[in-house]
Amino acid sequence: MTIKTRFAPSPTGHLHVGNIRTALHNWMFAQKNGGEFLLRLDDTDKERSKEEYVTAIRADLAWLGINPDSEERQSARFDRYEERFEELKAAGRVYPAFETAQELDLKRKIQLGRGKPPTYDRGALNLSEAELAAFEAEGRKAHWRFKLDHNTPIEWTDLIRGDQHFDPALLSDPVIRREDGSWLYMLPSTIDDIDMGITHVVRGEDHVANTAVQIQMFQAFGEKMPEFAHEALLVGTEGKLSKRLGSLGVSSFRERNIEPQSLVALLARIGTSDPVEPIADVSTLIETFDFSRFGRAPARFDEEELTQLNQKIVHLLDFADVQGRIPDQMTAEAWSVIRPNLHNMGEVEYWWQVVTGPVTAAGLADEDRDFLEQARASLEGLTWSDTIWKDWTGALKENSGRKGKTLFMPLRQALTGLDHGPDMGALLPLIGRDAALDRLKATSS
Ligand code: GLU
Repeated sequence: MTIKTRFAPSPTGHLHVGNIRTALHNWMFAQKNGGEFLLRLDDTDKERSKEEYVTAIRADLAWLGINPDSEERQSARFDRYEERFEELKAAGRVYPAFETAQELDLKRKIQLGRGKPPTYDRGALNLSEAELAAFEAEGRKAHWRFKLDHNTPIEWTDLIRGDQHFDPALLSDPVIRREDGSWLYMLPSTIDDIDMGITHVVRGEDHVANTAVQIQMFQAFGEKMPEFAHEALLVGTEGKLSKRLGSLGVSSFRERNIEPQSLVALLARIGTSDPVEPIADVSTLIETFDFSRFGRAPARFDEEELTQLNQKIVHLLDFADVQGRIPDQMTAEAWSVIRPNLHNMGEVEYWWQVVTGPVTAAGLADEDRDFLEQARASLEGLTWSDTIWKDWTGALKENSGRKGKTLFMPLRQALTGLDHGPDMGALLPLIGRDAALDRLKATSS
């Protein structure tokens, strides 16, 4: 059996970090098992679904390196839903209901007032012929509910939550279709999971109650249900579901120069018993991916942790990983010199500018100017090589009597305009002889 997972966003907005995590886990699980990963666009809501979001979802997944093996759209499958809906109708598993939203609301309030759970009372099942005819005469349109089988307990062994048990009598028969014929999420999703051969449904624990209902839908169709894994939700550092998390999407990470590998490394591991580590190679993360490592407590998403992880990941990126994103003239050698100084990729230009110039020496003391003239003359007389910094500062130490900071700092300031930065021994060969002499000359005059 080929393992098949799906990620099923509604294209009514951009992906946020919570659904990115779900997408990632679905994809990783499929990858680990040599299976397939489907992108299913839940676009039954014509009003709210937008093509621009479809495009953005595809682009965001691509940026993360999550490549779906196939893509489906619910809006292309209405005929199929109709067909299976008719089957359920024939089997007496769906029924029309006419309550207005206000009537339902009132029923709920009364139940709650009596200290009862606000479960739908199945009033629509008891309508007489005369009442049905009256609704029709009034022009009232029916919405449709799925009739749960109260005699079959709902059970499954969740890959994260373990054994789950629901008494269907305590659940409301869910509305599956609105008055205007449009579909709610529940039934199309089940039909798709069947038709598309989904073996594992991986989603947030906010869907646990939906799963209970959908299991009865699988059964009503006489189909085997897939495996389920409901992951604990993502929370911010304050331990709550924050608004901020809901708005954090790929574009905000890109703006902050977060690498896709960093986000992947973090989201793969938070909420699991495996440590968050700077692992840039996703195949390593896939190897260790296992639902049994997932905890029941909410996964904490810490932006500071991401920033720090990102820095470590940047330090692991090879020249080949960053080519195309760094200045064209920047060589592999230059990358390896600059890389340890980066907090994120947004700083590459800055350090490259230090190499290529122009730089302005700042903070030089007057007494350093003579020394820098001496240094310039010394450099001019030396044979340029990869060890030039060592040769040069060795000679200057002897001739000037300076050492330590008083020796090195004016040189760094003159050559880079800064009092900190990459190892000068590696940087000076990148700056090159002519530019170095020019910079020294500019400061000694
Ligand atoms: N479109 C649904 C959602 O975004 C899909 C849930 C599911 O994975 O079944 O909540």
